[in-house]
Parts: sequence; C-alpha cells; structure tokens
Amino acid sequence: MNFIQTRGIDESKQKTVTFSEAILSPIASFGGLYVPEELPNLGNEFLAKHLHSDYKTLAYDMLKRFEIDIDDAVINEALALYDSFDDANNPVPVVKIKENLYISELYHGPTRAFKDMALQPFGVVLSSIAQQKDENYLILAATSGDTGPAALETFKNRPNVKVACLYPDGGTSDVQRLQMVTEDADNLKVIGIHGVFDDAQNALKMLLVSEEFKSSLKEHNTSLSAANSVNFGRIIFQIIYHIHSYLELLRQGAIEEREKVYLNVPSGNFGNALGGYYAWKMGLPVEKIIISSNENNVLTKLIQTGKYDLRDCEVVGTTSPAMDILKSSNVERVLFDMFGDVRTRELMNDLEVNQFYELTLEELDTLREVFDADFCTGDEGKKYIKEIFDADAYLMDPHTATCLKSYETCSDPSIKTIAYSTAEWTKFSPVIANALTGEEDAQDMIALESISKEANLDIPFMIKELFNKDIVHSTIIDKKDISKEILKFL
Ligand SMILES: *Cc1c(COP(=O)(O)O)cnc(C)c1O
Repeated sequence: MNFIQTRGIDESKQKTVTFSEAILSPIASFGGLYVPEELPNLGNEFLAKHLHSDYKTLAYDMLKRFEIDIDDAVINEALALYDSFDDANNPVPVVKIKENLYISELYHGPTRAFKDMALQPFGVVLSSIAQQKDENYLILAATSGDTGPAALETFKNRPNVKVACLYPDGGTSDVQRLQMVTEDADNLKVIGIHGVFDDAQNALKMLLVSEEFKSSLKEHNTSLSAANSVNFGRIIFQIIYHIHSYLELLRQGAIEEREKVYLNVPSGNFGNALGGYYAWKMGLPVEKIIISSNENNVLTKLIQTGKYDLRDCEVVGTTSPAMDILKSSNVERVLFDMFGDVRTRELMNDLEVNQFYELTLEELDTLREVFDADFCTGDEGKKYIKEIFDADAYLMDPHTATCLKSYETCSDPSIKTIAYSTAEWTKFSPVIANALTGEEDAQDMIALESISKEANLDIPFMIKELFNKDIVHSTIIDKKDISKEILKFL
C-alpha cells in the first residue's frame, strides 16, 4: 500500500511513499500529510470472521490488509504490548451504562489515557524501522498532557531513537506532568515551554520543516520524525479499536449484524475521530460520527456551519485540557478524502493565511452526512460525571463526559451509541473530586484519595508511585529557545 499527499506534490517529494517512509518523515508536500492511496474493504466478511477474535488477532489481520512494509515479527512484537494492559485478553472493555449508551474504555494501558492505544505499538514499529535502516531518529512530541507520557513510555531505552517532548508549562495536570518529568532514560528529554498546547504544536511543526534544524541534526547523524497524530503510524492503530468496539457490541448481543451505531468521540487533534471515519469507510456500519468538544469548540462550529474560524480566537483552559486545541490537524485528512488535494491545499492555506476557511454548502452537506457535533462546558461535564456516578455507579473523566452532551443533542435515542472514554479518572482527579464532592482546588494526591474513598476504587500503583519518584527534567523555556535546547540534548 502506498501513501499519497493531502496538498498535492511539490518537486522535493516523491509522488507516493511507503508506510515506513510516511512514518519516518510524516510531513508531505506544502506542509500536508500522508494518507493511504486507498482503504482496504473490510465489509461483512471481515466482521463475521472476527466476531470471536481477540484484540491482537483482529489487529494483525487489519494491519495485513493495509499491506504495510513492516515485517510480521515486528507487527507481532508491537501488538504484544497490548498484553501489558489491565486485561491481556481484552485491552479495550466496552461497558453498558444506559439503555443505548456503551462506553469503550481506551485507557487501560501504562499511562492511563488512550494515547497508549496507538503509541505503544508505534514505538516498536518506528524503532525497528530505524534499526533496520541503521539510522538514528529524533522524535518530536508536542503534548497537551497525554501524548507526552505515552510517547516517553513507549520509546524509553529503545535503540536508534531519542525523544524530545514539549509540553505547555501549567497546561497539564500534576499526574501528567509527573509522568513526564520523572521518566528517567538517557534517550529522553522533556521540555516545558511558556505557552499553550498550540504553541508547542506550532513550534514542533516549524522544526519539522526547518532545513536549518534538520542540517544541525545531520551533524549529530540524526533525522527527524514526529509522534503526534499527524503521523499515520499512529492513525493506523486507531482504526482497530473502533472495529473491536463494534464487535464487542455484537458479542454482547446489544446489536444485530449490520446494525448501525453512532461513534461519539471526544476530540482534540481529531486522530481518534479520523480512525472512526476510516473504519466507517472500510465498511463498519456507522450511523454517524459525533464529534464532542469542550469550550474550544471550533470543530462544533465547522461541522454545524462549514466555517473554520480562528479569527479573534484564543485557546481557553478547560476541565478537559487534552482537547484544548484550535488547529485540529487531522481534519485535513477528512477534507482530502472528501474534496481532493487541490481544494484541501486551498482550505489549509486560507486557514494559515487568514485564520479562516469556509466550505461551500454542498461540501458542508457532504461533511454532515458523516459527522455531527456539539460541545460541552466544564460545568455541564461535571454535572454528567456526578449524574452518571450517582445513577449508574460509573466514573468517567471530564473528556469522556463531553460525549454525554452531544449524546443528548445529536443522536436518535433508538440507535445505539459507542462513546469513547479517553482517560482514567486518575489523570484528572481534581475536576472529578469537585464534581463528586464539591471540594475545590484539591491537589491531585488529595483528590485521588477522596475519589478512591467516595467511589470505592483503588488508586493504581503506577499513579501512586509517581508522587515519590525523583524529578529528572526541570527545563522550562521560551518557544524561541526550543531548537537550541534540543541540540544541546543531542
Ligand atoms: C488526546 C486526547 C483526546 C483527543 O484525541 P484526538 O485524537 O487528539 O482528537 C481526548 N481525550 C484525552 C484524554 C486525550 O488524551
């Protein structure tokens, strides 16, 4: 399977690249992204075949249908990492919480958020490609709080890769920050920057296309790649769990074969939602994909009005910080799929130059055939957390809670919904403690203990131990000093 480019082709790039090339060098011509030339069809036959498959068997077969240039041994080693999730037999449990509402729990990996779903196997794949090519790679990761820990965890001590991880200082929870700054391995560098997530992501995108930065890296015999969801190597692993979740509903007798369901996705950079979109294109029976946002509701407006408008728009801090994003990178892949490369380049260019683009009415119709959207405020989210906890004894995090609003406003209640839970309660405990007991501004450790008592849940060991670990990374700098700091680390 070859990969093509969302904004057309400039002279410096080949027309198509392989999967491993798209992973190693994820930015395509004119700042675009790589996408598969065509998607495999996994219709009825595939779903029927895997009705009783475990997660790894399903994943292996799906990856094979993409005909990627990765050896079987590497694929198997990558997928074996799902064995370290809470339940090796089912890394992604799907739980019924209301008559027609099912929660697919994507957070049972080592860093307790859904980024592990893709980054765990991705770490193995990228490191083995680098070893085979006998090349060294610097992986840049910009994080709003969950990508960072997951990227550090997957790459630590892996050969031929180093990681520089940028996070907005003050923009993450205590647990997220500790997960990063206590991660002790020679090949990892964690850097706090003064700014918000979009600043970190923009800095990363600039470094990825900077010839000067790349040639400085060459002096260290190192090439550059990225672990953000602009990398298709992550997206491919995010298609699998949508198919798995549908199969779980079939296994639980909740739906009939071919019955359509809603996928309801708490969205930031749109990687999770894009995985659902590809699953739908590959034959999964989906009624609609519902995009849930917080107060940073650019995606809600895009899907409701066709306008992507960043003019006079600033990121606001919310109770669901992993979704505090305005430039949602993976929307571009949907635009390309629906409207082609010429139009995508035009729209993305408008966004860069004018901070604005607008779809035609016809384009908006096409988009709305697949997607619907709504946003949920922090207070509404806390109300849902409390309500669902009291009524159904189910504890959800503030990102997951954003789905409850759009579940009410965007779905036909007679159709089943799979909503995705993207983080464990342990990662955002102060907000959850506030929702459950009203206590204000508790530190993470105190909030964790009060939730643990209130909900009768144990604090997982990997979270508890964070508070006793040594801090190994204390660098906090201005955006402009990032490249200097990274070169120092190399
Ligand atoms: C990353 C993240 C999201 C957003 O996912 P995207 O794929 O970027 O849309 C939502 N919730 C949590 C907890 C996350 O870590």
